[in-house]
Amino acid sequence: MINIAIDGPSGAGKSTVAKLIAAKLGITYLDTGAMYRACALYAVRNGVSVDDEEAVKKILPNIRISFTGEGESKKILLNGEDVSSAIREHYVSKAASDISKLPSVRDYLVAQQRKIASETDVVLDGRDITSNVLPHAEFKFFLTASADVRAMRRYKELIALGADIEFEKVKADIIDRDKNDSQRAYAPLVLTPDSTLIDSSDMSPEQVADLIISRVSDGRRGR
Ligand code: C5P
Repeated sequence: MINIAIDGPSGAGKSTVAKLIAAKLGITYLDTGAMYRACALYAVRNGVSVDDEEAVKKILPNIRISFTGEGESKKILLNGEDVSSAIREHYVSKAASDISKLPSVRDYLVAQQRKIASETDVVLDGRDITSNVLPHAEFKFFLTASADVRAMRRYKELIALGADIEFEKVKADIIDRDKNDSQRAYAPLVLTPDSTLIDSSDMSPEQVADLIISRVSDGRRGR
């Protein structure tokens, strides 16, 4: 079984790179951030505060997340509804970062992520994959880039989705989410000593994907 774990802050290019790796190696891509986003979307839609652990715990059994399709046509379903676009809205990013602090939410989603990784060849990206979800994964990477580069990537994505937003606001939100994700008490974003650090500021997604694939190939040859 191949498990490739990629962590890093928002906008580092993890999901673009992970999709490329999945396509090139013919394995599954699991976007764990999308799972936190789907939980946040469900809570917001149902008027449940994403900071209220007790209230959120009660709704967890009503949240069924699944994936369908592969590659560019891969969709995330929330109770059977395709929410692939809805979870990318700007307000969902902040709600996801807040709801992901709750241990009950993390435990609920991490169990599903571990199950998928135990049954499938998979590349997963997130914040706690290398440290918590799959601490014993054979291939572990920490992908980052400068805050300006990450904010610009996110800004372009949001503009392409038709959002009316300023670059400075996107950058401030990215910095705020970095703080939220790396300073939370439960499973924060950390660079583990056994992860390979990659700074993608001056690299294309193709270059990063090829670098990771070459590390994986070397590792498999050395077995
Ligand atoms: O990666 P993405 O920006 O879609 O993730 C949304 C939010 O979900 C992150 O800001 C983070 O708070 C949370 N998350 C997490 N652990 C993961 C993946 C995402 O806490 N493994």
